[in-house]
Amino acid sequence: MQTLRKESLLKLSTASSKIPKSSTRTPDFAANVFHTSKLKQFLNERAYKQMQQSIDKKTPINMMLADQIASAMKAWAISKGATHYTHWFQPISGATAEKHDSFFNLDKKGLQIEKFEGEQLVQQMPHAASFPGGSIRNTFEARGFTTWDPTSPVFIYEETLCIPSLFISYTGEALDYKAPLLKSLQKLNDAATEVCHYFDKTVAKVNATLGWEQEYFLIDSSLAATRPDIMLTGRTLLGHAPSKEQELNDHFFGSIPDRVTRFLKDLESQSTALGIPVKTYHNEVAPSQYEIAPVFEIANLAVDHNALLMDLMNKMATKHNFIVLFHEKPFEKINGSGKHTNWSLVTNTGVNLLSPGKTPMSNLQFLSFFVNTIAAAFKHEALLRASSVSASNDLRIGLNEAPSAILSIFIGKHLMQVLEELENVSKGKLSPEEKTDIKLNVIGKIPEILLDNTDKNRTSPFAFTGNKFEFRTVGSKANCAKSTTVLNTIVAEQLLAFRDAVDGLVNKKNMKKDDAIFNTLRETITSIKDIFYAAENEKEKTESLAKKKGLSNNKTTPEALPAYIADSSIKLFENLDIFSKNELHTRYRIDLDEYTSCIQIESRTLGDLAQNHIIPTAIKYQNVLIENVKGLKEIYGAVYKEHAREQILILERISNHIAEINSGIFAMVEARKKANVIQDAHKKALAYCETILPFLSTIRYHCDKLELTVDDEIWPLAKYRELLFIR
Ligand code: ADP
Ligand code: MG
Repeated sequence: MQTLRKESLLKLSTASSKIPKSSTRTPDFAANVFHTSKLKQFLNERAYKQMQQSIDKKTPINMMLADQIASAMKAWAISKGATHYTHWFQPISGATAEKHDSFFNLDKKGLQIEKFEGEQLVQQMPHAASFPGGSIRNTFEARGFTTWDPTSPVFIYEETLCIPSLFISYTGEALDYKAPLLKSLQKLNDAATEVCHYFDKTVAKVNATLGWEQEYFLIDSSLAATRPDIMLTGRTLLGHAPSKEQELNDHFFGSIPDRVTRFLKDLESQSTALGIPVKTYHNEVAPSQYEIAPVFEIANLAVDHNALLMDLMNKMATKHNFIVLFHEKPFEKINGSGKHTNWSLVTNTGVNLLSPGKTPMSNLQFLSFFVNTIAAAFKHEALLRASSVSASNDLRIGLNEAPSAILSIFIGKHLMQVLEELENVSKGKLSPEEKTDIKLNVIGKIPEILLDNTDKNRTSPFAFTGNKFEFRTVGSKANCAKSTTVLNTIVAEQLLAFRDAVDGLVNKKNMKKDDAIFNTLRETITSIKDIFYAAENEKEKTESLAKKKGLSNNKTTPEALPAYIADSSIKLFENLDIFSKNELHTRYRIDLDEYTSCIQIESRTLGDLAQNHIIPTAIKYQNVLIENVKGLKEIYGAVYKEHAREQILILERISNHIAEINSGIFAMVEARKKANVIQDAHKKALAYCETILPFLSTIRYHCDKLELTVDDEIWPLAKYRELLFIR
């Protein structure tokens, strides 16, 4: 009988021809999005104005207006063939969620009517108890409601009108990623606008911009179906590295196989209709690894679009007989996947605050935002790092792969020099000559410097790349709202501190505004110098340097997460009204539980796989060898051993591996039993990290050795070389 693997490999040769041809017509950009400009056609002028004001000022939209908006949305959606509507939201589980309701209801007489009014637009009640956060009854009420986020436009997806929403408990705590993100954006806007006023009084609003780069693997779905580990955990728990890996470097920017191209075309067409401005896709470092990136957008929208695109990718992949692996390290010894998040600030007047300008004054503005962002990252480096950790991302960060777990910052040697020169300005009031000198020779030179500043560092976790910061530690699977919320909040706090310091010097020390800014910048630069160093140093040197400078080096989730509930973090989030202490503790607990259950599932899956797939296959092969040895004995009689020596050695080797696997599984189960009775969530996560995770490597080692030994014909699981080289 053939193994499922062999059957799947046979199917693979015809898989390409069975894929539906992608449609050739590209839809109009955002054809399925109901932007406010379209809404304008449906509302009268007063109602439209009222809505814009509510969105800008974050004031509630009254029911009458909500009814009008709902009816406009319904008319548009039905005209586009939609039959259902749903509140679409991002619960803390990392995926997106929705609960579909039909537009069509029956009236009292049993006649069909369309019903979608303000009430349905503004609120919907999913059952929160099954989402993380919802089950913690002591902290939150078990149920929550979703509420329309009017800052993100509604869209039609698979005949359903999707209403981007927040997910909130009855007691007012956020149960999702979006509610805290929106709050952090608001605080950042307030703080940044005030700092802008030192330079330009006309600035009325500052938005954070976000451009993510999504990496992923694309794997044939029938081959993946032979692997319970991929299906259950999103990564391979077994598998020997193929003899050809990424060392040939022929995948990066190489030609994309036809099957993949068709998937990408389809994906692009769907993303276009949904208004996701996807711009680039190319091969990544590893075989079967790809990246997709859009043009950057306002952070709120960028987060929605990333979540939506990940959803879309899963669906498109199914259609094309692929599965997408968003896991950060699906294949051992092969490059992992991240989601670099590029972040900057833009004013309503169109100025990128992290891009050097044309005049000394605009460059001083640039430096203020630049230095304060670094100061924020330095002050809260452990928290920022914690915002990106997870069991799956731990397999990528802090091991042999860039970026490192130490949150150092790279800004290039030219900007480093500018900071050093600024640090040397005189204390107190500056002489007119000194000011002119700085303006001409230090900050005046920045634009030229940046243009030919080509030394781009690729390994730093938080790098300045010319006109934005790039946070590279974020995992490919993560919802990027999480780290963006932290980044927005810490920068808001720092900008407020900066404003207080500058205002203090102006009001109390009677300094001129630019003197006060120079003085505050000088002090800030002195306080942040420890975060810069060349991350290209060899690992040990970097690690000991980080330790000396007091930077954290948390390589695992249980080590990193406590930063969320450190006093400095609670103070930060409470002061800015982003999270209460209670909410922080709840989220901390959810993250710990998620970590523990992730490793628990991996450990169980590996145990089952080894016992039900690997050992029986190894024994089957031993039986073949035994038959062979018996046959040799029949032919050669007493001297058979001369001829059967190698076979007997292989038999023994297999027995040894089986014994090691079995004892490993036994010990792993014992360790699990011990860990499972631990009540404290943090101690439990640590136990899973320290006492169970190591078994995943040791058991795997012996299974992988068996893969190399056992007859390929009977091996049940698709091998790396088969999974990774799609043709
Ligand atoms: P790479 O990092 O691959 O060299 P780019 O420098 O072109 O590529 O940009 C990477 C990402 O940064 C893109 O997704 C882009 O949209 C985003 N990006 C560019 N400018 C900004 C900005 N001002 N704010 C946020 N993201 C930005
Ligand atoms: Mg990048």
